[in-house]
Amino acid sequence: MNEASPPDLIPLSALNQYAYCPRRCFLIHGEGEFTDNVHTVSGSREHERVDAAGYENKADARVEYAVPVWSDCLGLTGKCDVLEFRDDGTIYPVEYKHGPKRRWLNDDLQLAAQAMCVEEMTGKPAPKGAIFHQKSRRRREVIIDDSLRSLVKEAASAIRAMLAAGVSPPPIEDSRRCGECSLKTICEPELLWAVGHVSELAAGLFQPEEDAV
Ligand code: SF4
Repeated sequence: MNEASPPDLIPLSALNQYAYCPRRCFLIHGEGEFTDNVHTVSGSREHERVDAAGYENKADARVEYAVPVWSDCLGLTGKCDVLEFRDDGTIYPVEYKHGPKRRWLNDDLQLAAQAMCVEEMTGKPAPKGAIFHQKSRRRREVIIDDSLRSLVKEAASAIRAMLAAGVSPPPIEDSRRCGECSLKTICEPELLWAVGHVSELAAGLFQPEEDAV
């Protein structure tokens, strides 16, 4: 792979980051930037509990932890925190997340991509899974429906095209998301918003009026 080439396999976490903010995804996976903030540190600590590979047998499933997964069709690779191989023949992925459910779909997208990977690898269906919110210690079930699967495919293509182009997307204008983003000091969204607004104003100033002579 040279600098201009996108990676052959895109990490599953990139889908999560892309759905949160395409610029964040580019900064991490295109430019190798990453810094922790209170949210990422806290999430990493709690995540350590499911980072060790292993398995256990439960009443209706064999549960495997920290399972590597991939999809040749989608060009994705990553790891599932938990895979439940249920007695009914289905596979049920569980992704551990630090915070509560967000308004955006990033966690669901990552979970759906995991499900699509394990389906391709095993030939078994994974029609649903869950996000385990560590703060509340509760599972939120997610149906891996066609629309979520389409979003996974679209996001994977968009990420590959973005990394191939090598051009950073502009910052999103969402102070809540940016406020929780560990890359805010590198990204400097307010500065770029201001530059963008100044450019718009300048463009407006020099628009020729249609009836001007
Ligand atoms: S600070 Fe905002 S615009 Fe910048 S990477 Fe983070 S979420 Fe995206």
